[in-house]
Amino acid sequence: MTQSPMPASDHPASDHIDAVLHETRVIAPSDAFRERARYSAEDYERLYRQSLDDPDTFWSGVAGELHWFKPWTQVLDWHPPHAQWFVGGQTNIAFNALDRNVARGLGDKRAIVWEGEDGEVRTYTYAELLREVRRAANALLDLGVQPGDRVTLYLPLVPEAAIAMLACARIGAVHSVVFGGFSVSALADRLNDAQSRVLITADAGQRRGALVNLKANADAAAALAPGLEKMLVVCRADCDAPMQEGRDVFWHDALNAASDDHEAAPLDSEHPLFILYTSGSTGKPKGVQHTTGGYMVGTYLTTQAVFDLRDDDVYWCTADVGWITGHSYSVYGPLLNGATVVMYEGAPNHPDWGRFWDIVQKHRVTILYTAPTAIRAIMRQGDELPAARDLSSLRLLGSVGEPINPEAWMWYWRTIGGGRCPVVDTWWQTETGSIMLTTLPGAHPSKPGSAGLPMFGIEPAIMTHTGEELGPDDGGLLVIKRPWPSMLRTVYGDDDRYRKSYWGEIEGVYFAGDGARRDADGYITVTGRVDDVLNVSGHRLGTMEIESALVAHPSVSEAAVVGRPDDVKGECVVAFVLPQGDRTIDPAELRAHVSREIGALARPDAIYVADALPKTRSGKIMRRFLRQIAAGKEIQGDTSTLEDPGVLDRIAATQPV
Ligand code: ATP
Ligand code: MG
Repeated sequence: MTQSPMPASDHPASDHIDAVLHETRVIAPSDAFRERARYSAEDYERLYRQSLDDPDTFWSGVAGELHWFKPWTQVLDWHPPHAQWFVGGQTNIAFNALDRNVARGLGDKRAIVWEGEDGEVRTYTYAELLREVRRAANALLDLGVQPGDRVTLYLPLVPEAAIAMLACARIGAVHSVVFGGFSVSALADRLNDAQSRVLITADAGQRRGALVNLKANADAAAALAPGLEKMLVVCRADCDAPMQEGRDVFWHDALNAASDDHEAAPLDSEHPLFILYTSGSTGKPKGVQHTTGGYMVGTYLTTQAVFDLRDDDVYWCTADVGWITGHSYSVYGPLLNGATVVMYEGAPNHPDWGRFWDIVQKHRVTILYTAPTAIRAIMRQGDELPAARDLSSLRLLGSVGEPINPEAWMWYWRTIGGGRCPVVDTWWQTETGSIMLTTLPGAHPSKPGSAGLPMFGIEPAIMTHTGEELGPDDGGLLVIKRPWPSMLRTVYGDDDRYRKSYWGEIEGVYFAGDGARRDADGYITVTGRVDDVLNVSGHRLGTMEIESALVAHPSVSEAAVVGRPDDVKGECVVAFVLPQGDRTIDPAELRAHVSREIGALARPDAIYVADALPKTRSGKIMRRFLRQIAAGKEIQGDTSTLEDPGVLDRIAATQPV
């Protein structure tokens, strides 16, 4: 293992990642949490063993808790890189989320508690949600939607988004949700790529107190998408959007005309469920294709296990349904488990940065699942806003989307969780469908900054590019050695890209771009994207640990690092930092701090002090553009998923220190 000060590497061209932050804190769950938890450490050990040694029994047991119209005859059919799960079985994920839960007595339980940005609250019980989904399913059938047809959703985070997804699933149509914040061209590209004939949109969405005219964007995208035939328009504002005769129908008119009688279609386990485009952090978004049975089993199991779900929980995942987290953990996973799900339409800073805590207090949220970008942004505002709210209902916290730096982890645990709530740091991807690495909250202690252990049935390894497995503390590529039920089946319309991107890097294993290392306890720390790895004097440095070291300095609230070509070192470290509050950045002091925390090699050669970082609309740092700025190049590549394109020019105009 490499410790600071860093010795010269014996293998300059190796895959080892040399930066290691000295993070040694270990936080155990409280006795109170542990005693009531669904899984103990022994349960995890036993079940994890079984899931690898006898996967058929393990997965049959989980799948058997759900309803199948026809049982499967084979658990897994694996023709690398193509897997089929629960082969021969027929099921329906919407039936399992709704009809099944109503049949087991949850009809009057709240399924969705939705809060608009303007404070309006709407609640649907499981019985009410089922009725709406049945009507929406009939409305789609009335429009001529057939099983297998792709239906694109471009909606604000309103209950109709979940209803539309479930209605598609109910009839076997394939939904493709496009985040409501995306531009006309991003929507048009996705409509065309998925060859959608039907688009479901809204007249408007609320964002930071203003109305966003989604229908105008939808109309403009429709002009670029010749295959589009029908548009269903949810009325979120005043219903006076211009409607195109013969093409556009109001959602409420279509549902009012539809019967609320509908039997869910029995679908083959491998029937496609949805396409979802990745967030585009590293390149052009890919249309990730998921199917019915395996995705259902994976999201059902992980929601229950990772969030320690109980009947009386009020569960809130802040992700928009435009991202995989919103699919798996705002809609399918919690509803399959009969949970009460909170949904919030708006921005985290409207009317101020206390909004999340108002929602937690008002709805007595018990489980909160959010992203490091939100945690860091809220943390930057200080402790007064959370301190002024009653957060005592919370019992479990989760993080997803990026590596969470230990400073933000500790703040989340202490200030939001009151030191009482375990924090689960969940690593997974659009492609994996469900959580892959995490701790189980009552079973395992947490190590801030490290995601933790593999979920049931997941067999990870850390490898070199040539497929050699690395031992404890050596950084390398994070791979998965066997298929799992909720894995992607292909890239929509481009199976070759599927083979090459995910199974082509190293023979026989799944690789989707992240680097990691595993410690002697088996905890895996994701060190960043392999595309972002820096190679300084033959040492490969991950971005996560240098960024975490920067953020651990009191003057820095957020940081991104990239490599810049350097004649002597091959590459040197360039850092982009956001000051904490009105503090000033002292470059010499910051460099010395990084040297102390990691080692002299990781010292930034150049530091840009910025007012914002380029992020995807899901809040992830897009380092590929920062690399271009650091190298003094023109900005190139797909910027369509960038949240604020102006950031790039502002940073490029800054002098590094
Ligand atoms: P693209 O594949 O188009 O570049 P993306 O990878 O950002 O986009 P997602 O599938 O939404 O799209 O994100 C998955 C990625 O997010 C992971 O590969 C990883 O890099 C990062 N990630 C998610 N959760 C965690 C976590 N808990 N710790 C570290 N990284 C995480
Ligand atoms: Mg990715």
